[in-house]
Amino acid sequence: MKIYNTMSRRKEEFVPIQPGKVGIYVCGPTVYDLIHIGNARPMIVFDTLRRYLTHRGYEVNYVSNFTDVDDKIIKRANEEGVSADEISEKYIAECRKDMESLNVLPATVHPQATKEIPDMIGLVEKLIGGGHAYEKNGTVYFRTRSFPGYGKLSHKNIDELESGHRDEAHQLKVSGESEKEDPLDFVLWKPKKEGEPFWKSPWSEGRPGWHLECSCMSAKYIGGTLDIHAGGEDLVFPHHENEIAQSEAANGQPFANYWMHNAFLKINGEKMAKSLGNFFTVRDITAQVDPMIVRFFMLSVHYRRALNFSQELVQDAGTSLERIRNCYDKLKEKAGTGTPLGEEEEEKKKEADILLEKFDAAMDDDLNTADAISAVFEFVRTVNAFLAAGISGELAGIFLKALSTVMEDVLGVKLAREAGLLDEEVEQLITERTEARKAKNFARADEIRQLLLEKGIVLEDTREGVKWKRT
Ligand code: AMP
Ligand code: ZN
Repeated sequence: MKIYNTMSRRKEEFVPIQPGKVGIYVCGPTVYDLIHIGNARPMIVFDTLRRYLTHRGYEVNYVSNFTDVDDKIIKRANEEGVSADEISEKYIAECRKDMESLNVLPATVHPQATKEIPDMIGLVEKLIGGGHAYEKNGTVYFRTRSFPGYGKLSHKNIDELESGHRDEAHQLKVSGESEKEDPLDFVLWKPKKEGEPFWKSPWSEGRPGWHLECSCMSAKYIGGTLDIHAGGEDLVFPHHENEIAQSEAANGQPFANYWMHNAFLKINGEKMAKSLGNFFTVRDITAQVDPMIVRFFMLSVHYRRALNFSQELVQDAGTSLERIRNCYDKLKEKAGTGTPLGEEEEEKKKEADILLEKFDAAMDDDLNTADAISAVFEFVRTVNAFLAAGISGELAGIFLKALSTVMEDVLGVKLAREAGLLDEEVEQLITERTEARKAKNFARADEIRQLLLEKGIVLEDTREGVKWKRT
């Protein structure tokens, strides 16, 4: 498999450190609110990477953290008059629900910063001992210039960074970090302010800096060098650059061999972000749209390309998925007949292997889910033609297994329909209701509206006719 490595800016052949095993670390969300569908992009993309590597026979150790100590969490806790723990525990639980609805597998471990404080203090001590960090008035800073490779991931030159920071003298005073030896230095440990959660440490009662947790927890749960480190592209600098500096300065070995970064989910050409207020939560979207359509939509574009979000584009993804599901339904029905494979079907049977080969070839090319989905559509077209001409139950079973392997096991898009009404069934009932109304049979018309409502379908009578949506 080839993976585009942000570090080398090239696609590289993936070679794991230990044959047959892969250790992946993915930076997880800060848990102060419901996640938005931009946050869901790395979750879905790297869950798909994990599933694909598993499908190729690797044993995958997948670690993804919850950042549960952070200014935003503390702010929210103070606003609501509850503890920071209450906020983070609540939103971890909510995040897990969203992940489950999007069929994102739970990580092997989901470490939490607040539960790893002693290890983080140990890492800071090691960095101080090695001359890579220093303490000033209870704050510990990383001595950025003590790490020669700084900037290698984001391809930034340390001297340019320095000049970019020149105007920061004033800013540093404001942020209370004026005692830094160098504006490039960043915080490893900071003392508490009034009303903030804190832990005891050799330097002050306080809390760890954000970058530190990922360096610490990835080493603890994966160890040594990571095979793959991943996250959204906004994390390249400074977060991942700082993680590398901390980890490599402390351990003297490469931190991660492959760096993968997903591009943004955008809305009207802008990054979807809490701070911009242009976001939709996963909770809101999945209340309106089948979460499997959302997942399919996310995978319809390669992960390194920006993906524009709009209700129309999601609907289009729904229509495309419907074509695959219709084929799946027909295959399932046919497979149930159990009729044996005919001799003349040997040639047709090869289509299952062709699908798997083309699918894997696309995924091997830096997880190209867009091309992988094209291979599925080609397969569906061929199989639909076979179905129209008639096939045995056994052949349908073979096709069904191939389709389910790529769509469900690897892409994580469930094909079986939730117990509810199919679009055509809804349309049929609406037609029946319109006819009942024309015939002035209002009792029947109302009955149908009620029936649809019970199945989660809301009707709206408009001038252009009846419109409907799922609640
Ligand atoms: P945060 O909670 O902001 O640290 O984000 C958690 C993860 O979501 C990180 O990997 C971010 O890079 C990613 N992320 C945030 N916003 C977007 C977006 N609009 N599109 C894609 N990924 C995003
Ligand atoms: Zn991280």
